[in-house]
Amino acid sequence: PPFPLKLRGPVIKGFGRGSKELGIPTANIPLSGLSIGGHDDLDSGIYYGWATLDHSTISQNTSSTSVLSATDDTSVPEQSKNFAVADLESASVPPSRPLTPSQVQDETPKVYPTVLSIGYNPFYANTTRSIEIHLLHLFPSDFYGATLSLLILGFIRPEYDYVDKDALVEDIREDIRVTQRSLARDAYGKFARDGWLVGAG
Ligand code: ADP
Ligand code: MG
Repeated sequence: PPFPLKLRGPVIKGFGRGSKELGIPTANIPLSGLSIGGHDDLDSGIYYGWATLDHSTISQNTSSTSVLSATDDTSVPEQSKNFAVADLESASVPPSRPLTPSQVQDETPKVYPTVLSIGYNPFYANTTRSIEIHLLHLFPSDFYGATLSLLILGFIRPEYDYVDKDALVEDIREDIRVTQRSLARDAYGKFARDGWLVGAG
């Protein structure tokens, strides 16, 4: 499918396989995020793009956040199945009053360079596809329940299997460098101001 691709969903618990210990935490959103714009057929692999976080949904989502456990990774939480569509609708509702310039400033979210994988993660032999999103930013705390919006701009490579964790991490480090180089180009920089990311739908 043509880029840019748009995905959105609440940050849910992932497989808990310690990506944080590797220094590469990956935020997970439900696969239903893929159904936005009909991207269910998206090739598995590594992609790069821009992401924003809406922290205002944390309280409403944390109570319903479901754990995708490693032993039962076929279960997609009922709650999160419908989330992406509901959020898509609310995102298109215009503000009731015009915003003052300072409000506009305040509501402009930070846009983060992002590398993500969509697929089965062969190294972990997952039986269902997942979306693993690493934001290239050091956050002071977790943001489970926040709404993550993604604008995917390019494909880096297909998924590979690895002999060990070190080889996996080495490739992710290279994916991060490719992402930084790619997004630094003007043609991609302008997408960081796309309405999808700043909440204008
Ligand atoms: P899980 O298995 O629950 O996904 P991870 O070890 O992969 O756990 O950590 C992912 C979580 O870490 C995210 O859901 C998010 O709350 C937090 N996090 C902190 N910094 C980042 C970052 N730079 N990119 C992605 N997630 C981050
Ligand atoms: Mg994760």
